[in-house]
Amino acid sequence: MSDVEQEAEQPGAAAGGPPTAEVVEHWVGGAATRGSSSRTAEVFDPATGEVARHVVLAEPDDVDAAVAAAREALPRWRDTSLARRTAVLFRFRELLNARAPELAAIITAEHGKVLSDAAGEVARGQEVVEFACGMPHLLKGGYTENASTNVDVHSLRQPLGVVGIISPFNFPAMVPMWFFPVAIAAGNTVVLKPSEKDPSAALWVARLWQEAGLPDGVFNVLQGDKVAVDGLLTHPDVASISFVGSTPVARYVYETGTAHGKRVQALGGAKNHMVVLPDADLDLAADAAVNAGFGSAGERCMAVSALVAVGGVGDELVAKIAERARAIRTGDGRRSCDMGPLVTRAHRDKVASYVDVAREAGAEVVVDGRGVEPDADGEGFFLGPTLLDRVPTTSRAYTEEIFGPVLSVLRVGSYTDAVEMVNGSPYGNGVAIFTNDGGAARRFAHEVTVGMIGVNVPVPVPMAYYSFGGWKHSLFGDSHAHGTEGVHFFTRGKVVTTRWSDPSATQAHGGIDLGFPTNA
Ligand code: NAD
Repeated sequence: MSDVEQEAEQPGAAAGGPPTAEVVEHWVGGAATRGSSSRTAEVFDPATGEVARHVVLAEPDDVDAAVAAAREALPRWRDTSLARRTAVLFRFRELLNARAPELAAIITAEHGKVLSDAAGEVARGQEVVEFACGMPHLLKGGYTENASTNVDVHSLRQPLGVVGIISPFNFPAMVPMWFFPVAIAAGNTVVLKPSEKDPSAALWVARLWQEAGLPDGVFNVLQGDKVAVDGLLTHPDVASISFVGSTPVARYVYETGTAHGKRVQALGGAKNHMVVLPDADLDLAADAAVNAGFGSAGERCMAVSALVAVGGVGDELVAKIAERARAIRTGDGRRSCDMGPLVTRAHRDKVASYVDVAREAGAEVVVDGRGVEPDADGEGFFLGPTLLDRVPTTSRAYTEEIFGPVLSVLRVGSYTDAVEMVNGSPYGNGVAIFTNDGGAARRFAHEVTVGMIGVNVPVPVPMAYYSFGGWKHSLFGDSHAHGTEGVHFFTRGKVVTTRWSDPSATQAHGGIDLGFPTNA
């Protein structure tokens, strides 16, 4: 019996529900495998605090095996026609549409975000699949007839080869889907290294690809930690790395990967501001701040964590946000709650520690989430919505990425002060402005040093046919994810210059001429 069949026999696995196997495995060459490693890590159910399963952690041999499977599958997949490649993507899309709730349940079980949020993550990832279904159009090159006499020129784009994708815990489905649909449709083969904190979604996706008819070896999953990452970064058969995670690791991945000759895009951390001008609709702004600050318990790279109140709006805005924050129901994401737990106890404790950090720096704790009573069983990793006012810009609660349900309000006197604050941040992922003044919004979009900007939109995640990515310490490398930049990242260009003599021509050949070719 093959590994695939054995997996399917396990309760829950065949139905595609959360895997009940004790150990979450790699997926290499079309089958689940434990590989050679004896190292494992605990995977928690964050809502109960219990260890739900373990995940294998790759050793260098396992990296070699996954890359070898991808390399073996490459020649056939690269030379499969675009029509056949995109047919597989269409089937993947149909299967995912039919079974999205299963994937959402897996995400909630290991990440903790509420089910509706997990479903939203899957839907946004699916948009990239739909974008990649248009690959025949996206890969069209240019053609110039008679560029020189009897000489034609055309351009084309070809896949890179074996590509590595390394993803963070906070979007175990969507972030990998920013990359792999485009990479696969363009003819590459993939090794995905998901976060060891919520590894099961990647395995579920691998099985779905197989069901959609993707040849074995085109999509592989390597479970692991730094050992797996380092293995991919230095492997001679890996052509590129797409990384998403915290800024220090993103910088390391970029420097190590490029030093080993790879094309690298490394998306890092964030500290997203939301600027509220005095003319803004304050109810709209308060709703937005709460949704963007506390959605997914603040564990989104596009979460709003610094609210910049301009002029006199601070008091009224803080009161409106506090009222809404207190009404949020925190609990197990499988119940009808608004906000789930954080991903691990260590992360929860770190996030909670910023409340005292801010208070000691002189901030006012308006809503303290540490006393929350969640709707959940057990000892889950909960922190309720937390609102801090008048946070000094020198406090670590402002200068560091918190990545939890902690919203800091900063008060400034003018629009110019607000822009200075936003542009002074080392991060440049997302930013939002709330105003009814179109001219101010237009000027803001022009002058902020941030990659993704929302005007009365708090979480301005671009559509799949645009590109996602920040500036400054939020992105190392030149290419953003998906959209045109994503297609360019996963392909490289060629230009072919061709001469065919006209059969009716009587002219002689050019003869010997050692001069540099010129056009005529
Ligand atoms: P992380 O940096 O700890 O981990 C990301 C990946 O790197 C994981 O696969 C992990 O196994 C691996 N890794 C961790 N430490 C490593 C090391 N020392 N050497 C090599 N590899 C290592 O990030 P996380 O905690 O999983 O995710 C949260 C972070 O990701 C936040 O900073 C968030 O802002 C960021 N993020 C950014 C974006 C974006 O688009 N810019 C999107 C999502 C998340």
